[in-house]
Amino acid sequence: MHCLVTGGAGFVGSHLVDLLVEKGHEVRVFDNLSSGRRDFLSHHGDVVSLVTGDLLDLEAVKGAMEGIEIVYHLAANPDIRLGTSVTDTDLKQGTVATYNVLEAMRSAGVPKIAFASSSVVYGEAAEMPTPEDYGPLFPISLYGASKLGSEALITSFMGTFGLQGWLFRFANIVGARGTHGVIFDFIHKLKADPTRLEVLGDGRQEKSYMEVRDCAAAMLHLVSAADEPINCYNLGSSDTCSVRRIAEIVVEESGLPDVSIEYTGGDRGWAGDVPKAMLDASRMEAAGYSPKFDSEGAVRYTTKVLFEEIG
Ligand code: NAD
Repeated sequence: MHCLVTGGAGFVGSHLVDLLVEKGHEVRVFDNLSSGRRDFLSHHGDVVSLVTGDLLDLEAVKGAMEGIEIVYHLAANPDIRLGTSVTDTDLKQGTVATYNVLEAMRSAGVPKIAFASSSVVYGEAAEMPTPEDYGPLFPISLYGASKLGSEALITSFMGTFGLQGWLFRFANIVGARGTHGVIFDFIHKLKADPTRLEVLGDGRQEKSYMEVRDCAAAMLHLVSAADEPINCYNLGSSDTCSVRRIAEIVVEESGLPDVSIEYTGGDRGWAGDVPKAMLDASRMEAAGYSPKFDSEGAVRYTTKVLFEEIG
């Protein structure tokens, strides 16, 4: 298939590109390289074409659609916390960018979109583990609002123009080439000060984690296994790992003696952070994909890999 991957030079996107190429698909990447990196794709040489452009430029997005059969839409601002200080980033890089992708698809007659949504659309869910049909969906971050808004645009383009969509609500995705997130932050903090590790919140926040190659493999599996007009799946493991446990694992893997782990206190890392997120992954598993790592396994593996990458 001819695939366009928005955000394909990013952390998750570049792993998805690896798998698409491995499976024999033709891949074009659309990325403005704001948080993505050219070298995450360089091992593909000319096999993958990189269009350097911004999703807020509708004409540029239209230009990238020629011959495309499916869009994997992953480009977005990845930093949930940014919304606490800059309030229009998620609206633009999330909701408006998704509208531009859909409008460009409509103009070019591209029929299918797979979207990187997030567990944060559930907000502070009363039901745990949280299944896909949980509602009402009341996100508590501006990033979450942009993901829910994007999902709504996709279902609307399905209802109005006959598009087919896969909505993937990701857990916290971790793994090689990670450029952000809690494990990445902890490793950098320890590099800056090997004697202490500051943890935002009381450390009791717990979330589902998924290793990035599991995430990419689950996406590809479900795009071929699920064929409804709209296909909505949680991607993650049904267990969780606490921030306290992640801090302990990072300290263990660092090999550093006598690190003091210090908590800033409070039940969440920042305003808009969901303190507990546990996904019900049974729909994904019933459709035939089981992750290789559980949450703690994904965290442990990622810690080892990122220590090697960051050095
Ligand atoms: P990332 O920052 O590594 O990837 C995002 C990519 O999009 C980058 O390559 C960036 O350069 C590109 N991009 C951003 N804005 C763009 C624009 N306007 N035009 C063109 N390109 C643009 O982040 P990631 O962790 O790989 O996240 C990928 C997707 O998965 C995002 O939509 C993110 O919201 C979603 N997601 C990630 C996680 C996670 O834990 N990593 C969890 C839930 C959802």
